[in-house]
Amino acid sequence: MDLPSQAELGQCPIHWVAVCGCIATVNILLKAGVSVDVEDQKGCTPLITAAQYGHTALCCYLIGKGAKKNLFDLEGDTALHWAAFKGYSELAHLLIYSGCNPHQLDNFGQTPLHLAVLSGNLPTVKLLCEQVNVTLDGEDHNRNTPLKLANGRKCKEIASFLEKAIIRSKKLHPKFDWSTWMFGRPGKSRGPILFYYGNLFLWGYPTYFFKIVPVSYYALWELHILFLVCNIFMWIFFLKASLMDPGFLPRDTEEYNYSLAQALNFNDWKKGKNPLNRLCHTCHLVKPLRSKHCRITNRCVSHFDHYCPYVYNDVGDRNRAFFVGFLASMCLSCLIGAYLCWDCFHFAGKSILIGIGFLFLSVIAIISSLMTVICLYMALVNITTNERINVKKYSYLKDDSGSFHNPFDRGFYLNLLEFIHIIPPLSEDKIGKKKLKFEI
Ligand SMILES: [Zn+2]
Repeated sequence: MDLPSQAELGQCPIHWVAVCGCIATVNILLKAGVSVDVEDQKGCTPLITAAQYGHTALCCYLIGKGAKKNLFDLEGDTALHWAAFKGYSELAHLLIYSGCNPHQLDNFGQTPLHLAVLSGNLPTVKLLCEQVNVTLDGEDHNRNTPLKLANGRKCKEIASFLEKAIIRSKKLHPKFDWSTWMFGRPGKSRGPILFYYGNLFLWGYPTYFFKIVPVSYYALWELHILFLVCNIFMWIFFLKASLMDPGFLPRDTEEYNYSLAQALNFNDWKKGKNPLNRLCHTCHLVKPLRSKHCRITNRCVSHFDHYCPYVYNDVGDRNRAFFVGFLASMCLSCLIGAYLCWDCFHFAGKSILIGIGFLFLSVIAIISSLMTVICLYMALVNITTNERINVKKYSYLKDDSGSFHNPFDRGFYLNLLEFIHIIPPLSEDKIGKKKLKFEI
């Protein structure tokens, strides 16, 4: 079934089927046990071959069947290089969306952008220029930049687009990444959590019990009790938010396979629509509205809010209320702690340890109170951090005129009840399916 031919390229039957784009036959071969990534003598996999011939639906099908997206042929070209070289912009869109690397270099030092310029296809060039961190003026091994290639080929339209894009990219100041600033750097680093709790256990609690309690326990015993109660709640909420399932969606669903099969009959590829927008090829599921694949935990999370390095977990549908409880109890603990430090500093002599404790707790109190207010506000208006940051990406957050409209907002009271799971969220039907563009 996967015997290579005697011809020069040594293609297997599945490569020939990939040339003609027949999904049904590919399906028969895969079911018979043919590897989805089998290579011919030029290193072409069925996905690369299908990309060479512009068979978008077949590429979609192969990716759904687990074809590796960043494999390359003997010249270092991936499926995306080929789609770009042939000017198949819808296919290039599908491949990038499915996780192909738009920055990969082939053996000639060329990115898909270089090859898209050679194809003379402006939509493909535009698509590749829109990608994050794209290098617009990278040189290949012949010292050609995409702009030089466009001028060499006398593609005036592409050359003028690239010139403008390069000028624009040089003007742009690097974007301030507030989520990194607020939640720590991306990646599953234990740094923030170790810093905070290390401080608490190494000198925070010892200082409290050995330095502050003896000074003011009798005078301020109510505050001390309140401080301890807040701390206990902080730890309960922390453990809940950190250890519980934030709302991970089940993987490898039947619905995914069904939707993939439906996507094969989808006729609107040419109109720029992509029926795969709601499929996650990593988890193999259809993403419900408001869910997102978290690149740090590598799982799709229902009602995804953000990944928090301080609780070392995603914040989502199930643990969001505990997360807000954690923030609020931490804020109160820090405020009371700062006051107790201030009191001790004045009445028991100016100790450096107490002074540092006061500053540390004050800073955490300010940050956590701001975050508590922001999170509570978002709960009251029923929006997630992810939606607020990426509001432009979600068509369901726009009304017919394109302005912001939150279809989930049911008023403060009902939103709050929904947030703490006393009432269920609105179903997708109720918020109006007409808002859900690109549905299968
Ligand atoms: Zn996922």
